[in-house]
Amino acid sequence: MKVTLIGAGPGDPELMTVKGIKRLQEADVVLYDRLVGDGVLSMIPSTAEKIGVGKHADNHPVPQEEIGRLLVAKAKQGLHVVRLKGGDPFVFGRGGEELELLVENGIPFEVVPGISSAVASGIYSGIPLTHRDYSSSLHILTGHAKRNGELDIDFASLARIKGTIVVLMSVASLKKICDGFLDAGMDRNIPAVIVENITLENQRKFLGTLGTLHELSQNNRVTSPAVVLIGHVCTLSHKLDWVSRLNLHPQAERNIK
Ligand code: SAH
Repeated sequence: MKVTLIGAGPGDPELMTVKGIKRLQEADVVLYDRLVGDGVLSMIPSTAEKIGVGKHADNHPVPQEEIGRLLVAKAKQGLHVVRLKGGDPFVFGRGGEELELLVENGIPFEVVPGISSAVASGIYSGIPLTHRDYSSSLHILTGHAKRNGELDIDFASLARIKGTIVVLMSVASLKKICDGFLDAGMDRNIPAVIVENITLENQRKFLGTLGTLHELSQNNRVTSPAVVLIGHVCTLSHKLDWVSRLNLHPQAERNIK
């Protein structure tokens, strides 16, 4: 009886840790989220039971209580249960809540970190998240609104700190996010980037400013999953964009040949 909570990384299966892959291959049951990449899912042993908990057939996510119930029930059958999450399980992944439930039920667990999309967004868009000339702090936020529709973001404090801002779950509320920072007095010309499908072959990156990012994103029909980066470090995005320079994506390579 054991649960291993594993971070699958941002999508590219080669970005999963060696330990994560090892534990995955020892699994009897795997409960996986919607954002776990297909390449990672293909590493699940054929003998393991696979349960997708990201979406029901009716397209609604499986409620958190049901995920918890499944985790506990499968573990109590004496199985090695792997709980596979996109990115890092402790970054907006509800990993903590699930582990609290395991503690309450006396179920032993192990946690394997993953590369968060928050961090990979910088690497894969040529933006160092900190840089001595531009920014000395990093703030990772959620753009997911609270029940009352309001964002849980302290715009005024963040505008004052002048660090690099990374916003996950930001596509639906992008206008509110940008307006929040503008209303808090942030310069509309501050560079900002939105990057979609990070590390995957359909990755797209758009560089604008705090004042233009929402329109840029709408015009290009950017959809979730995407990460927004705001701050002076985004100035380096062209200079250090190794992804497009290497023609990393097979699709791009095919076009050249
Ligand atoms: N635990 C995850 C975050 C879960 S919240 C992590 O550490 O990455 C889900 C959000 O993560 C998405 O709305 C999106 O903002 C971001 N995300 C995850 N994978 C992504 C990807 N491949 N490309 C772009 N954004 C991604």
